[in-house]
Amino acid sequence: MSTITARNWSNWSGFVRAEPKLVATPTDAGELADLVRTAPGPLRVAGAGHSFTPLVASQGSIVSLEKIEGLVSHDVQSHRARVRAGTRL
Ligand SMILES: Cc1cc2nc3c(=O)[nH]c(=O)nc-3n(C[C@H](O)[C@H](O)[C@H](O)COP(=O)(O)OP(=O)(O)OC[C@H]3O[C@@H](n4cnc5c(N)ncnc54)[C@H](O)[C@@H]3O)c2cc1C
Repeated sequence: MSTITARNWSNWSGFVRAEPKLVATPTDAGELADLVRTAPGPLRVAGAGHSFTPLVASQGSIVSLEKIEGLVSHDVQSHRARVRAGTRL
């Protein structure tokens, strides 16, 4: 699991680190849209931080979607589900 604090981010191993200008954890799509419009770039989304390469590292903004999670809907017959972007498997 990655480590994300008010100022820093690192991947699971700690070998990829970043000190972005902004670390944000929006709670809904409206807040996320505001960030996309106003946050210093480049803006990257952090998932679990399990990637080995600096895909998430940014000197601009790093956003965690961990508060935008959960099941939206599911269809038993088609075996399909819609989940919000921060949902962990
Ligand atoms: C021990 C270990 C074993 C692994 N084994 C395998 C394996 O067998 N096969 C394999 O394919 N991979 C493997 N990986 C790699 C790892 O599974 C993937 O890199 C990881 O699943 C990517 O998901 P993440 O949530 O960690 O993304 P992160 O590393 O956090 O981010 C990766 C990229 O996805 C973007 N991203 C993440 N979440 C979102 C989101 N919600 N919305 C938009 N963009 C997002 C980020 O911005 C970034 O560009 C392994 C990793 C580890 C540590």
